[in-house]
Amino acid sequence: MKTFIFDLDHTVIDSSHRQLTRPDGSLCIASWRENSTREKIFRDRLMPLANFWRRVYDAQHVVIVATARQMSRHDFDYLYKHNLRFDSIVHRQIGEDTPDDIMKRDKLAHLFSAGNIDASRCVMFDDNTSVRRTVRRDLGVKAYHPKVMG
Ligand SMILES: [Mg+2]
Repeated sequence: MKTFIFDLDHTVIDSSHRQLTRPDGSLCIASWRENSTREKIFRDRLMPLANFWRRVYDAQHVVIVATARQMSRHDFDYLYKHNLRFDSIVHRQIGEDTPDDIMKRDKLAHLFSAGNIDASRCVMFDDNTSVRRTVRRDLGVKAYHPKVMG
């Protein structure tokens, strides 16, 4: 059993019509707030990696979501609607302004120790260069740009 960690925006979900991300892949919280209505969220499109996510979940691997979004009910509903199931999720809290890479690193580190997860057996997909660099360097997680999966 392996653990797969998926970012959402620009990794599994194409939310580009909502202009949430900066060119480096980090999330722009101001645009996020304005554009996170249910109607707009449900116009997001799935990317090819969504199929891989469903396959690994069905094969009983552990799936963790690591997103810089402040998850709303609509975001959770969207994942559910598209059959994107997960075992755990780390996300930004309201008012939290930690940079994406530090936020994800710290919350994943906590989850790994709480859940007895071996970081060296985790595979992560994230379009954000600094997230990949930080979790690889500090946690030993194998982190890839989603493009490696085609
Ligand atoms: Mg992203």
